[in-house]
Amino acid sequence: MKNRIKALAETLPENIGGALIISEENRRYLTGFSSTAGILIVTVNGSVFFTDSRYIEAARKQITHCRVEELKDFKTQIPELCRETGIRSLGIEAERMTVDELNRYSKALGEVSLSSSRSVDKTVNSMRSVKDGEEAECIAKAQKIAEAAFDDILAQISSGMTERDIAIQLDYNMLKNGAEDISFKTIVVSGVNSSMPHGVPSDKKIEKGDFITMDFGAVYKGYHSDMTRTVAVGNVSNKQKFVYETVLNAQKTAISALREGLACSEADKAARDIIDAAGFKENFGHGTGHGVGIEIHEKPTLSPRSKETLAAGNVVTVEPGIYLPGEFGVRIEDMLLITPDGYKNFTSCNKELIIL
Ligand code: ZN
Ligand code: ZN
Repeated sequence: MKNRIKALAETLPENIGGALIISEENRRYLTGFSSTAGILIVTVNGSVFFTDSRYIEAARKQITHCRVEELKDFKTQIPELCRETGIRSLGIEAERMTVDELNRYSKALGEVSLSSSRSVDKTVNSMRSVKDGEEAECIAKAQKIAEAAFDDILAQISSGMTERDIAIQLDYNMLKNGAEDISFKTIVVSGVNSSMPHGVPSDKKIEKGDFITMDFGAVYKGYHSDMTRTVAVGNVSNKQKFVYETVLNAQKTAISALREGLACSEADKAARDIIDAAGFKENFGHGTGHGVGIEIHEKPTLSPRSKETLAAGNVVTVEPGIYLPGEFGVRIEDMLLITPDGYKNFTSCNKELIIL
């Protein structure tokens, strides 16, 4: 792993002496070490990772890019470190720190001021949005696991199963295939429920003529995957077919537009224009996609309001949908890596309408 701690220390603004990193995801990203508790102080003149007795032995073995010390009492150890290294102000993770944590650290640190200017967030978010080869490999592997689970579920869905049954089976398939966790609560919605983009799997039984939308992902070595497929059961109406083809066309068009330097709002527009033109402007309420990595939603965001630009190394989803309340909904989601010469689609499974 490259030295991300050093990279962060070197990009911190001059008025901030160091960064106070306490969130689980940023600690993991910067140190490569996963733990539920720890404090990482990043400075140009020597960064330190503190963790308690439960993790200290493993942390000392695994962390190579900074000093590791056992955390006994943050109220004395952190101020002491600041005095030793001459830190007068620490940037915090304003997006991630709770008010309670801020109060506790402010009290303990006394003279050292805490800066909530968001420059730490911005720097770490933008570092995290550009994946290195190792990260991209983990995400690709997570996606492979999810796809194998999807192939299995297609053979397992049968009449009489409920949305919950399918969701549980899909989760089981992913864990059985080597996922260390599932990316988020698996979404399985069918029939009239499929018009709710983030509906919760219910005890509704699958019926002939239903669309089933499944949105799910696997976690591998801390990295997430994310995919959605809508499949039909038994038969489909002409309207269902038309909506499906429209979403598929929007999704493929947005994907083919992806390239380094493209404004994220333009990627969104590529999909949205097609859905608007087909008469479903009001039925596509969410953004077209988002970054994926150590968290399921990361930078950059593909939405009409996004000010970001695609860069090589970004891993983003493209997931337009059309939702017709009281009728049905369709969403198709792939996950792609932006490369210097275009993109690589991590999602390899079929997108043409599957009728079970
Ligand atoms: Zn998804
Ligand atoms: Zn997604």
